[in-house]
Amino acid sequence: MGGKRRGAGTTVYLVHLDEPYRHAQHLLGLCGNLEKWLARQRRAKVSPLLRAASRSGIAWEVVRTWAGGPDLLRRLQAQSRGRLCPRCHAAYLQRQYAARRERARRKRARREPQPHRREVG
Ligand SMILES: [Zn+2]
Repeated sequence: MGGKRRGAGTTVYLVHLDEPYRHAQHLLGLCGNLEKWLARQRRAKVSPLLRAASRSGIAWEVVRTWAGGPDLLRRLQAQSRGRLCPRCHAAYLQRQYAARRERARRKRARREPQPHRREVG
């Protein structure tokens, strides 16, 4: 590794695609120098996902970066991209909120006494 300290000076990046390609809308990765990575990516299209997206006319952008190495990348990979991505965050929160409301509604429905059905006659 060229005697470089592991994870020193590296950047974790998150790329957001304007629309999903197949099922992927994000790319989370690690690079030594974001500017260089971007230049190489635009020129040589290194990532298969971004190459395919560009070919399909889908625009993409680096929307977030973190200073860190492989350990941070692994930690972030375990998280929902919707939570990490500033572009998708609002939609993610809306989905979470809707799910929470639905759970609360079901809980309430369980708690409420069931109406007695009394057969007359
Ligand atoms: Zn996103």
